[in-house]
Amino acid sequence: MTAPMGHETTVPAGREAPGEHDVIVVGGGPAGSTTAAFLARAGRRVLLLEREPFPRFHVGESLLPATLPILERMGVLSAVAAHGFQVKYGATFFDQEGDYEHTFYFLTNKPWPSHAYQVHRADFDALLLDHAAKQGVEVRQRVSVESFAPDADGVSVAARHEGRLTTARAKFLVDATGRDGLVATKLGRRERIPNLGKVALFAHFRGAARAPGRDEGNIGIYVFDDGWFWWIPLAGDLTSLGCVMHARTVRGWSGPLDGLYAEMIRRCPAVERRLAGAVRETEIHRVANFSYVNGPLVGDRFLAVGDAIAFVDPIFSSGVHIAIQSGELAAQAVDAALADGRFTAARFASYQRTVERGLQPFFRFIHKYYEPAFFEVFLRPKSTWVLEAVLSVLSGGAFMKMGWSTRLALGVLFAAARMNVWARRRTGRPVESRLEW
Ligand SMILES: Cc1cc2nc3c(=O)[nH]c(=O)nc-3n(C[C@H](O)[C@H](O)[C@H](O)COP(=O)(O)OP(=O)(O)OC[C@H]3O[C@@H](n4cnc5c(N)ncnc54)[C@H](O)[C@@H]3O)c2cc1C
Repeated sequence: MTAPMGHETTVPAGREAPGEHDVIVVGGGPAGSTTAAFLARAGRRVLLLEREPFPRFHVGESLLPATLPILERMGVLSAVAAHGFQVKYGATFFDQEGDYEHTFYFLTNKPWPSHAYQVHRADFDALLLDHAAKQGVEVRQRVSVESFAPDADGVSVAARHEGRLTTARAKFLVDATGRDGLVATKLGRRERIPNLGKVALFAHFRGAARAPGRDEGNIGIYVFDDGWFWWIPLAGDLTSLGCVMHARTVRGWSGPLDGLYAEMIRRCPAVERRLAGAVRETEIHRVANFSYVNGPLVGDRFLAVGDAIAFVDPIFSSGVHIAIQSGELAAQAVDAALADGRFTAARFASYQRTVERGLQPFFRFIHKYYEPAFFEVFLRPKSTWVLEAVLSVLSGGAFMKMGWSTRLALGVLFAAARMNVWARRRTGRPVESRLEW
């Protein structure tokens, strides 16, 4: 390292000197913190470079139950549980077309708990990053990585801190830069997913309606003609309300985006009713074009985790789980590579396979979800067996080996949805995918 990079977090005494790192992790979101924390717990010397000073704002506030055991293995679950985040026991889906709603509760017979949390991401991400530092990770904030260059002996990183260029070197690099996708931008590719050119507008409100008892923390998903809303009850009487719509809707709106957001609320009376009397606490944030698949996922002396790999759609609240799960898997793969000193792309093929297998059911569900015939069947589960299979996948179990019974149950669900296409056609109801919203 030619010049010291920015410091926000102190390096625990007794750690190695700078320049002797095994791994550089770029990005301190959930994926980066998780990878770094697991590697440090395995005794590896990790440098984490993060562009923003934490706590920093981030979208993506609803977690899944299967994340909790990973947080426990990372040693941070008790701190997360003690923080006072809103507990979430399920999800309520509402379909304006049929004026129908159904609440799914997380199952109790799974290797994960029957609850998750709704989190302020600024707090949650800062807590994880802090935990990584406590495990021995050297965390440097306000450091923006500009390029990296793998060679036969290691990988060099060039970054900017307070306007100054600095460099760092390690044996391996983990790309945890989220949507920025460092690896894909510098030496790979970024593929947009056809038809998923969507835009989300979202804000926090105080004083919105709260469901009673255990339902208070349920995420609400409201599907209406122009798109869908997420309704995420946060601790402290705050509610995150986001509207996801097709980019075309935004392009066709001539006024300010605040007006479009208000208009969408007006067009979804179920949301409008629950929001009556609530006060908006934040500006209206906007995220666009968030559906892509990046590549390569692994290479000689590097791999990617979390959103740096791909992001499809927020509908099933899977982003943070995928980030944290891929972080744990990446740490295992990198730790093994450090043990035997081999860092070729082929060495990480099994990491790539496991991640792609874990992502696949989410991708499939997300595409199906936009088909009205599927959504209708999904909201009216006729069999507990099918329901349990769906919940198992959507609770975050997709990364675990899927048993034949789960696979068969999902097959039955997809077959029922195909039959419903026929039934809807017969009664003159639309069958076109809502991806075209
Ligand atoms: C509209 C929308 C709604 C969503 N809702 C949910 C939800 O309810 N639940 C859910 O689980 N997920 C949700 N997500 C997804 C979720 O936000 C992400 O999947 C998650 O944040 C991914 O974590 P990550 O660590 O991979 O990336 P991030 O959390 O984005 O972290 C990446 C970090 O890298 C840093 N960085 C970037 N480039 C550099 C650089 N060059 N140098 C140094 N640092 C850099 C950034 O500052 C950032 O802190 C949503 C996403 C969208 C778009």
